Amino acid sequence: MKYNIPRGTFDILPEDSYKWQFLQDSFRKMATCFGYEEITTPIFEVAELFERSSGESSDVVQKEMYRFQDKKGREFALRPEGTAPVVRSYVENHLDKLSSRTKLFYLGPMFRYDRPQAGRYRQFYQYGIEFIGSNNPYYDAEVIAVAFLWLNKLGLNNLRLEINSVGCPDCSAVYDKALQEYYRPFLPKLCPDCVKRLETNPRRLLDCKVPSCIEFRKNAPSQMDYLDEPCKKHFSAVCDYLQAMNIPYTINPRIVRGLDYYTNTAFEIIYEGLGAQNSLVGGGRYNGLVEQIGGKSIPAIGFAGGFERLLLALEEEKIELIPPSKPDAYLVCVGDNTRLQILPYLNALRTKGLIVDYDPDKSSLKAQLKSAASSGAKYAIIIGENELATKTVNLKNLQTGEQIAIPMDEEYTINKMKN
Ligand code: AMP
Repeated sequence: MKYNIPRGTFDILPEDSYKWQFLQDSFRKMATCFGYEEITTPIFEVAELFERSSGESSDVVQKEMYRFQDKKGREFALRPEGTAPVVRSYVENHLDKLSSRTKLFYLGPMFRYDRPQAGRYRQFYQYGIEFIGSNNPYYDAEVIAVAFLWLNKLGLNNLRLEINSVGCPDCSAVYDKALQEYYRPFLPKLCPDCVKRLETNPRRLLDCKVPSCIEFRKNAPSQMDYLDEPCKKHFSAVCDYLQAMNIPYTINPRIVRGLDYYTNTAFEIIYEGLGAQNSLVGGGRYNGLVEQIGGKSIPAIGFAGGFERLLLALEEEKIELIPPSKPDAYLVCVGDNTRLQILPYLNALRTKGLIVDYDPDKSSLKAQLKSAASSGAKYAIIIGENELATKTVNLKNLQTGEQIAIPMDEEYTINKMKN
């Protein structure tokens, strides 16, 4: 019996694992420098959490959620996104008690029953941050800065930050009416999804990928013209902060985030050259969410990005991530007796942090030295019966060929290798 990996998923093989580790470490460092702390939530939650937060009519809930019942008939879902679980944890653990401003970041797999294609998978790995506790537009810019400056630091220059304001519930209600009026005459020509969306969530019509619907979008009213004074002020302050941070942006009034809980600032970071799936990061303010899932009315903002598309973009720009270290040493061991006796020494070297290659299947000196050379190790540590008797080893520098006899002692060996 042969088994295949589920469609839309992939293995991260050893030859690629270092890239993922590099990105995880690098993102952790960046978020930490901005004062964010890591939070890890389970990969499944009660399904209702996502229905409440994303909205019953959202694509995520309607089509993309991996829902299942446990043995007691309770409804759970594999998390399709990270914000609702983080906010659930924030409320459940009273994280606001520690400080009125909570700065969190997360890393982990998300699951959506999406149509797989390049840059779109059914299990994908997201990094993200959530800032909870203030409506100050400075934080909108700070959250954007964490994403933008990190991608920049990785070496990506072809980035386009697009921002928009989707207003507050008051102004977006007026805007929704304007959209409904605009689209109603085209009703017979809209795709079946958009016909539904017109009543349930008209802003989602601006997000439709069906060519005929895209055409109607061109003359649709712009959210920008429907912002009330406080929302206008907030948006212009965010723009001022971004300018002060030297972060270039373009205003795109067509950005509507797929999820219902977004208010005011919405943004995306696009990398040209990735085809249809060119959005590296998406985020926005969600002042309504904390209250919606059982907390107090507390404003918040965050973003999420995916590693898969990021790696595609890095590849596109030929940016090399730091590859894993080669072995420090290769242990070459001759004689049956020696093979048992060297084990404490070998384990001591490894537990002290040295990467030491060793192959018990190869017995001849020649074969082992050949493997040592091809392993990329800097040193060979050579031990035979004679060395064992005198409790010494031969340390051979594989680059210069120079060889010296030293005591069979891990500290001594490590020091010698350093000098
Ligand atoms: P979203 O949570 O839909 O706002 O997506 C935020 C980011 O996550 C996107 O910009 C992508 O980088 C990534 N992403 C979302 N969905 C997928 C997917 N199905 N496969 C791979 N990456 C994804």
